[in-house]
Amino acid sequence: MDLKLSKAEISWQKRAREFAEAWLFPHEEELELKGKLPLALLKRQRRAVAEAGLNAVNHAKKHGGQGCTLLEQTVINEQLGRATGALWGAVWHPADPLKHGTAKQIRDYLVPSCLGKRRGSFAITEPGAGSDPRLVQTRADRKRGKYYLSGEKWFVTSGDWSDYLIVHAHVDGDADKPTLFLVDKGRPGVRIQRVPKFMHTYLFEHPEFVFDRVELDGGAVLGEVGQGFELTKDWFVEARLQIAANCLGAATRAAEIADAYAAERVQFGRPIRDFQAIEFMLADMAVDIMATKSMVYRVAAEIDAGLDRKLIHARASAIKLYASEMAGRVVDKALQILGGRGYMRENPVERLYRDVRVDRIWEGTSEIQRAVIAGQIKKRGLATYTGWM
Ligand SMILES: Cc1cc2nc3c(=O)[nH]c(=O)nc-3n(C[C@H](O)[C@H](O)[C@H](O)COP(=O)(O)OP(=O)(O)OC[C@H]3O[C@@H](n4cnc5c(N)ncnc54)[C@H](O)[C@@H]3O)c2cc1C
Repeated sequence: MDLKLSKAEISWQKRAREFAEAWLFPHEEELELKGKLPLALLKRQRRAVAEAGLNAVNHAKKHGGQGCTLLEQTVINEQLGRATGALWGAVWHPADPLKHGTAKQIRDYLVPSCLGKRRGSFAITEPGAGSDPRLVQTRADRKRGKYYLSGEKWFVTSGDWSDYLIVHAHVDGDADKPTLFLVDKGRPGVRIQRVPKFMHTYLFEHPEFVFDRVELDGGAVLGEVGQGFELTKDWFVEARLQIAANCLGAATRAAEIADAYAAERVQFGRPIRDFQAIEFMLADMAVDIMATKSMVYRVAAEIDAGLDRKLIHARASAIKLYASEMAGRVVDKALQILGGRGYMRENPVERLYRDVRVDRIWEGTSEIQRAVIAGQIKKRGLATYTGWM
């Protein structure tokens, strides 16, 4: 068993770290205080992503991506996840299901998305449909070879910055025909109805969209009619791995800041790290990060080695659950070690504290991950998680 990172993996890790330090960290406070970054900077950042060769690390080179393995993507996302304000969002990963598009969809959507000329957002959640997407009300009614899309989508991450959406809708209102549609934002009938504010400061917004009988032709269907869940499931695996890697980076940065502070902060005549209460928190944080890193790297490497698709889904849930909850525990302890300074917005730990909270909610809540894991144990046995295969 070789547990060392390869030269290529170390090189990707370094590249992402340098990019985060040059292009993400310097803008964290401005984003936090002003709520957004200037357009000119976002454009410069976009060019810098491409120049650093960090665009579309999750897609094949032939489509304009970097063709990275999942372990390479993990070490990259871990480094980017150190940034606050979800500045990692500046480094785009076009949605995985796009690779299942037709030649025309690949040319019109995937390739320009990999190159940073277009950007898409995934729109599944609705006012009445969150964890249970069978409750989706958005429908695409078929009429004389066209589809007419009507409904409402909430929490569409980066929907303000994207120029197209991948919309999960039920064909003819039939929940057995969940289908993904590529919808250009400029089409008549597509509008943003509200841009709510959230707990975190995020590089982009999460607007609510309304679709009012948006006319689409058959070429807008991604994959096949009825294949919506299948394609979305693949996206969830990738997104869950990305969240786990981001959480690792966030937790590690918070722990490093707390560790350094504990060494320099003197109270009662000695550095606070010499109080066992503080030292034990640091010990728990380090072990929590070590355990998470071990499982996240392992699962990424297993998928690269050809792990069975069903086990991929099973394990992606486990690492998303564990990494997101670990980040909550670690960042909370880091904030406690920093005392009042940890509660100041100018401190990255305060921002990370708010940032990582959503990781237990989006792309499947912790409860849904537990339900998936429990179901897998029942179906495939406890060894799915406790064994080593
Ligand atoms: C900042 C942000 C960005 C987002 N971005 C996107 C996006 O880009 N695209 C998109 O489509 N969605 C997005 N979402 C939506 C997100 O995926 C949902 O919020 C999430 O899936 C939960 O759905 P819900 O909020 O409707 O909660 P509900 O499903 O209503 O759940 C409420 C509570 O009930 C629990 N619960 C539900 N079912 C069960 C069960 N079977 N067993 C036990 N407990 C259960 C949940 O865990 C939760 O605690 C985003 C959300 C946020 C906050």
